[in-house]
Amino acid sequence: MTEPIDRATAWPYDERGEPRDFYYSRYDHPTGVAAERELGALEGGDALLFASGMGAATAIVLAFAQPGTTIALAEGAYFGTALLLRDLARWGIHLVEFDQTRPPPDADIVWVEAPANPVLTLPDWDAVRAHRGLKVCDATVSTPVYLRALDEGADVVIHSATKFLTGHHDALLGATVTRDAAHTERLRWIRGHAGITAGPDAASSLLRGLETLDVRMRRHTETATELARRLREHTAVTLVRYPGFSGLISFDLEGDPLPVETATRLIANQTSLGGVRSSIESRHRWEGDRIPRGLLRFSVGLEDADELWADLEHALGVSR
Ligand code: PLP
Repeated sequence: MTEPIDRATAWPYDERGEPRDFYYSRYDHPTGVAAERELGALEGGDALLFASGMGAATAIVLAFAQPGTTIALAEGAYFGTALLLRDLARWGIHLVEFDQTRPPPDADIVWVEAPANPVLTLPDWDAVRAHRGLKVCDATVSTPVYLRALDEGADVVIHSATKFLTGHHDALLGATVTRDAAHTERLRWIRGHAGITAGPDAASSLLRGLETLDVRMRRHTETATELARRLREHTAVTLVRYPGFSGLISFDLEGDPLPVETATRLIANQTSLGGVRSSIESRHRWEGDRIPRGLLRFSVGLEDADELWADLEHALGVSR
């Protein structure tokens, strides 16, 4: 049965004047709880939904960091996360960025991304597991279809559910998943009191997205694997980064990538990733020298592989 969307913000107390399970939607609402149950089952933990992926990241910092906390973040991880954590220097939180293919430096929180967006490196899980700090893993690009990060040793999984989990570029949503009840309750408290709860419509989009997640992820992977192979053989491409699963490929060109990204027709020139329709963009425009100038991040959608390749091949021809 499709879960109805309940947009109420408040519900009546019971006959004794006591709050029921749902009383004010900033804390919890039925559509959100239904979606959390589904996501939690896939991840093997307790899920909480947030207004966006960055809302979830903010909750993690507010819940588990304090002045003097050091956070070790994977280099080349999502730029917005790095920007937020850098800004928190004003609050006495120290950020160090490290190569996640190697052991993390000493820190109170170690924050990996599996794989990192857009450089697509993977963490050294043995080293992460051995680390003394709270282990946070951004699993946005893997989704639980390819990674159950709690099983790998993460304490907190974070998702931008705006991406593959909802899958249609029409819902802004974040999530955390935890197994330790104290961690979950801390995050829930921060969410409710900071007011970074997801709305019911976005939660409903997650319920819809999870119904097709497995089949979408396998198709993203099949097409991306083939396109990564063809890109590796193309003379205009100097490097292809693809971890072998999911729908994100980053590839490098010798020169300016702008003529290529603006020449595609089927593949939209826009930001974000994880949708059923393909998109491409240079990340240097946002991240500056953190990312190679020639790197294009390509989110492979569900379109026909040959049609996508024809579009790419045409666009790559423009670069020469
Ligand atoms: N984590 C990753 C890996 C992302 O790619 C993004 C967004 O691009 C975020 C977190 C932030 O999520 P949101 O845009 O939903 O706030």
